[in-house]
Formats: sequence, structure tokens, C-alpha cells
Amino acid sequence: MKVLVINSGSSSIKYQLFDMTDRTVLASGLLEQIGEPSSCLTHHTRDANSEMRKITKADLVANHQAGFQLIGTVLTESGVLENTNELFGIGHRVVHGGEAFREPTLINEKVIDTIRRLSPLAPLHNPANLVGIEVALKQAPDVPQVAVFDTAFHQSIPVHAFRYALPEELYQRHRIRRYGFHGTSHYYVAKQAAEIIGHPIDSLNLITVHLGNGASITAIENGKSIDTSMGMTPLEGLIMGTRSGDIDPAIIFFLGRHNGNKIEEVESLLNKESGLRGICGLNDMREIMHLVEAGDDQAKLAIDMYCYRIKKYIGAYYAVLGQLDALVYTGGIGEHSAAIRSGGCQGLANLGIELDERKNTVQSEIPAAIQSENSRVKILVIPTNEELEIAEQTIKRIQLLSGDGM
Ligand code: ADP
Repeated sequence: MKVLVINSGSSSIKYQLFDMTDRTVLASGLLEQIGEPSSCLTHHTRDANSEMRKITKADLVANHQAGFQLIGTVLTESGVLENTNELFGIGHRVVHGGEAFREPTLINEKVIDTIRRLSPLAPLHNPANLVGIEVALKQAPDVPQVAVFDTAFHQSIPVHAFRYALPEELYQRHRIRRYGFHGTSHYYVAKQAAEIIGHPIDSLNLITVHLGNGASITAIENGKSIDTSMGMTPLEGLIMGTRSGDIDPAIIFFLGRHNGNKIEEVESLLNKESGLRGICGLNDMREIMHLVEAGDDQAKLAIDMYCYRIKKYIGAYYAVLGQLDALVYTGGIGEHSAAIRSGGCQGLANLGIELDERKNTVQSEIPAAIQSENSRVKILVIPTNEELEIAEQTIKRIQLLSGDGM
């Protein structure tokens, strides 16, 4: 049962081909810089010895259409897919589902129109996701295709938590509210946590902390998201690689009046020049950690601020939940940085959250529990796998519709 997962960006296409009978990755790849002479495809295929083999193709790929054609050719040539009719389904990552999509959805013309209508909420992402969907539909018209939304898991957030205290009319007219992102990842690690703990997910309260280039934290009550740190856009909440996270909105007016910035400049400043980069000049956590080791004060400040913001949200979400079974770290930083995990939990022992610093040194590719023996709350490190989650949801949706999954 082969499923192709596609994440189409404005100038890139990421993909993974799964054999879902045993959840193995048959191939994965990234096509970058579409439309530029420097476009490049990096493709990995599982060979007969189950080793991943790398192929690179550096040729001009003029547009997404040509990109999908190239990916199709490489999948065929590397022997993992004879033709698209072998696919059980194609799963597309779609960033913004607004209030329209609460769950994975089989793609048809109406769904495409709705995703397009939601583009003002995610102008950088939804149009690029749509290009991928439209080209894939043309190239594989007989394969069922499913849209899996980053926002869907957070549609269970109650109204008192998703609304901003702005004039009612703005919500009615523009649907200005908290949507939340990284939903596929938060849900995936929450399910994994339930398996590790050995209780059904709908009986567990969790705080999931996704720390990658973007970062967000979610309060999960009885398996459902009830609050999350990203808002109407991914800019709100935790400090990120280049995004500021929470700031006083009045800073924006101040920049306009006293720093001569236009609104587009402020938008770019908050999204691309702020966060860790704004404080210490770098946005890659590994590089920042090297600077800290070399005694760089700004890098140390950036880390202190980063951890403080995580801890503040953990405290807030603990209060929101009232009772907490497990705190889960995931994403590139959450999975690999002992210092950040430790910093986020500093001083929380009285809340029942206590790390075992020795166990916390894990750099494991498999889930690990890192709480101390005295900790009432479990602290878990769980590698995320958004692509696998998209593949699973794609299958589930197709089977439900065809009656197989009932
Ligand atoms: P994305 O959000 O783009 O998927 P990732 O989840 O892969 O990104 O996270 C990327 C971040 O993870 C980078 O800041 C990178 O430096 C960090 N990271 C990866 N490995 C480590 C490590 N061993 N220690 C600290 N940070 C790490």
C-alpha cells in the first residue's frame, strides 16, 4: 500500500513515498529553487539491501509541473514506483484550513476553491500548497488525494481561548482569531506519548513542545488541543529561529512612527530578522550553542530568553489544564538539545516537573523518558514524523470514504 506525501512550497517540493504495509520510507526527496538555474533535486531511495541511496540532479526545473514530472521520473527510475496508479493515495500538507477544515479532506474542486479562499490567512503557504495539489491532480487523476491541514488539530480550541479581544466585527468579517499550526506534529507526538504511557489518548492531559525552526507549544486535554501558542499566523508565541513570537503590538506603531518603517518592513523584521537571529545574529540552534560554548554573551542571552519563554508557556498551560500527565519535547531542537529541554523545565519541580539530567543527555532517534524518579509529570522526548502522520491520515480518510474503515 504505497502513499506519496507532498509538501509543496513556493519554490520547493518535499516528498516521501511510504509503503504503509510496514510504514517504511521507500524514497524521500527535496526539490529546491524551482524556476532558477540553480534548481536541485536531492533524492534518497531504499535499495535492495534496505540502505538509503542518494541521487542528486542539478538541472533547471522551470516550474512545479516540471518538478513533479522530474520527481515521477526519479521515483520510476529508482524502481520504487512503476507508475502513479500503484499509489493508494497522495497526501498533501496544507498549512491553513481556517475554520472550514477540522479534519483531513478528500480533494475535489470545491475543496480547492475553499483552500484558495483561505489564502489571505496564509499568503506565503496556501497558494504554494495549491500549486502542488493542482499539478499532482493533473499527473495522477485516478489517485485519491487528501489535504491534511496544519491547523486542523487545533480546531477543538474553545472560543474563549481562540478569540482575540478585538472588536467583534473583525472576527465576523475577517475571521481574525487564533488558529494554531504544527497540528500534525502535536497530534503525532501526543498519540506516541499515549502509546508510551499505556493509556488511551482521550484520557490524557499533555503539553507538547515543538521546537524546530518554527516553534509552538500546545495544551492537550483528554487528547484534544485546547490552546496553542501560534495564533492567526505562526508569528505568535515562543521565540523562534527568526520570528519574534509574543511582543507588545504597540512596538509596531512605535517602529512606524519613530524608526521610519513601512508596514511590510515591520512584517519582514518580525518574521525574518527577529527571534534568536535578532538577539545573537544566528538562527541555527547548533551554531548558537557553539557560540555559547565560546563564551558569547549575546548567544547566552538568546538561549536564556528562549528557555524562559518556553517555561512561561509551560506554566500557563499547566494552569489551563489543571492536571498534567506528560510534557513532550519534539522538533529538531526539542529532540536533540539537552540544554534547551533542561532550560525549559528549570525551577518547575514544585509543579511536579523534574528532569533527570543524566537521562536528559539522550540524543536518541527513538522516544525516551527523561523525568526524575520524583517527577509527578512524565517528561518525554519523541521524534516527530509529520510525513508519516499525513500518510496515515490519508489512508484513514480514503478508507472511511470507501467504507473499508468503518
Ligand atoms: P524545521 O522546523 O525546519 O523542520 P527542524 O525541526 O529540523 O526544523 O529543527 C531545526 C533546528 O534544530 C535547528 O535550529 C537546528 O540547529 C536544531 N538542531 C538539530 N540538531 C541539534 C542538536 N544536536 N542540538 C541543538 N540543536 C539542534
